[in-house]
Amino acid sequence: MTDHPKAQLSAYLDDELNDEERQQVETHLATCESCQVLLEDLLSIQGDVVKTFQLIQEPADLEIRVLQSIGIEKMPAAAGKGWLYVPLVALLAFGAIWFATGPIFVKLIVGFIKFMMVMVYLASHFISSVPVLSGLTVVLSLIVLTASVYSLRRLFQTTTD
Ligand SMILES: [Zn+2]
Repeated sequence: MTDHPKAQLSAYLDDELNDEERQQVETHLATCESCQVLLEDLLSIQGDVVKTFQLIQEPADLEIRVLQSIGIEKMPAAAGKGWLYVPLVALLAFGAIWFATGPIFVKLIVGFIKFMMVMVYLASHFISSVPVLSGLTVVLSLIVLTASVYSLRRLFQTTTD
């Protein structure tokens, strides 16, 4: 094979090739350094995407850890912003009561507040532990915020069905 199977590398990562195609790609990869580099780039991009989606799709575990951190440890990193959690927790408690009575929009608001608490925790924790990456975190936060708005809209669409 003389051509670099660049278009197939992405399909290869997604496991969308048949046995013959996969073998061709693997044979080429074994001898082609530039395609190995490209594959690693694709892997790293895919890893970032997967991590971001896990962050969005599995907030339940994170939420528990955040609530534990706030309640038990009183994190040093967030100590200066302790006042921030007072209205949030009050809103959360208020929202929980309303949620018990049924309104769907309260469920959305509570979900959003919980999600924002996770984001605040992640942002403060990440910035304090890796100062160099704080700029990157702001960008990532904006992306996650956008994604959270999108998932809220999706949640709203499914709950009104
Ligand atoms: Zn190649």
